[in-house]
Amino acid sequence: MFEYRLRESKRARHVRLRVTPQSGLEVVVPKGYNPARLPAMLEQKQSWIRAALERTEAERMRHEPEAVWKLPDEIKLPALGQVWRVTAKEGGASWATVREIGPGQLLIHGRITDEHASRAALVRWLARQAYAQLAPRLGELSKQLGFAFRHVYIKRQRTRWGSCSHHKAITLNAKLLFLAPELVRYVMIHELCHLVEMNHSQRFWSLVQKNHPDFHIHDRELRKGWGSVPRWAC
Ligand SMILES: [Zn+2]
Repeated sequence: MFEYRLRESKRARHVRLRVTPQSGLEVVVPKGYNPARLPAMLEQKQSWIRAALERTEAERMRHEPEAVWKLPDEIKLPALGQVWRVTAKEGGASWATVREIGPGQLLIHGRITDEHASRAALVRWLARQAYAQLAPRLGELSKQLGFAFRHVYIKRQRTRWGSCSHHKAITLNAKLLFLAPELVRYVMIHELCHLVEMNHSQRFWSLVQKNHPDFHIHDRELRKGWGSVPRWAC
């Protein structure tokens, strides 16, 4: 389920799990430990591991050196199979706005030399796009699968692609638009299955598997997915 590095230690008395930005998940086992026991142990600890991997990834992104601000020429949204060309026009305002001026054509207008103003305008557009496109898709999937949710929210979380609350509200990350359609489908199905199983138990994963057999591969690809998010949208 997880990729990990195995290390045997003479001093270790128990199995220890570590997650570091450099080497990801590391499993330290006492000398003579039977590796056949590892899969069950990792399965049991999967919530912890998942959370630790997400945290580390978010941490890594925060510490990357700041690049000089430059407007994107083009915005690719693989989830929707769209590519947008960005045209910029400087204006006197203290803010910026983004408008769709034709098929695949975006105009950013206003204070475009200002990183904060430009990014704010771009992410507002991204969130609108996510709401318009992802919410109906989630609705369709929920009908197909027979799992009903109450609300859908679009946010720009830093460490998760989606979430599901006890109130049956599903939150989707606007940055999903930068991922491949099958990954977006997996996230939606993952969250819809949480409406039935509010945990990551065996029962939960069987339900996911039934509705999205490739979940193993996609779950792993999702973790690398943060790398597909352009800096302006981070
Ligand atoms: Zn989950």
